[in-house]
Amino acid sequence: MAMIQYTSKVQSVLKDKIQLLNNKEGAIYLVGPIRLPVNLYGETIEFKWYCWLNCEEVTENYERIIAKLSASNLAELQQSSILTYGDFENDDDALIRMHSICHTGDIFGSKRCDCGFQLKQSMKKIVEHGTGALFYLANHEGRGIGLFSKAMAYILQENGFDTVEANHALGFEDDSRDYSDAIKVLKALRSKPVSLLTNNPRKLDALSNDGLTLSGREALWGDVSEYNEKYLETKINRSGHIRDKEPCDND
Ligand SMILES: [Zn+2]
Repeated sequence: MAMIQYTSKVQSVLKDKIQLLNNKEGAIYLVGPIRLPVNLYGETIEFKWYCWLNCEEVTENYERIIAKLSASNLAELQQSSILTYGDFENDDDALIRMHSICHTGDIFGSKRCDCGFQLKQSMKKIVEHGTGALFYLANHEGRGIGLFSKAMAYILQENGFDTVEANHALGFEDDSRDYSDAIKVLKALRSKPVSLLTNNPRKLDALSNDGLTLSGREALWGDVSEYNEKYLETKINRSGHIRDKEPCDND
């Protein structure tokens, strides 16, 4: 009896915080908002946090989904999430960042890429802007090749390959990232146009091809060092990134 009461409490608490979005393979279950105060450059900023899970089963009976969680080994298949700031649903002007997970850059602060810098800097820019969202895309490690393959690609890079050549040598496309789920989630949270924080025109294309109205783009270069100079040059010369002039840009 105690168990049943507990279960119905869990369901009543969670059901209004979960929404079902359909995608081509099944469902996206979006959970949130959750209050998340964050230490951003020494200042406590309150964000709203959402997380989503892809699942083949499509049901609005969330009880079924919750019941399956503990047996699903979800820690092995990391989920994506979003931080929103301000009145993300209603404000006319919102700044968004579609950030690809980078274990080495975001967590360890690796200087081989500019991801860690871009992650923190985009949060700061969103807060300064007043409204926006950071999408943290968990299936985008190493431009979609996964962490283990990225480690091997790094070894190739230490032996003369550039980032694009290394991915090709391991049998991957240069860029295997897909933004369709992130766009679905964005549309569930907001219908007005957004500005995108990026140096990557493919992200602009992916978003506008999916029918999203973009009101602009803001650049996000910085943290250039001897360790990532070549990587950043490759982004511009081989992957079509846009070269912008910013005070912190070395070139
Ligand atoms: Zn990185």
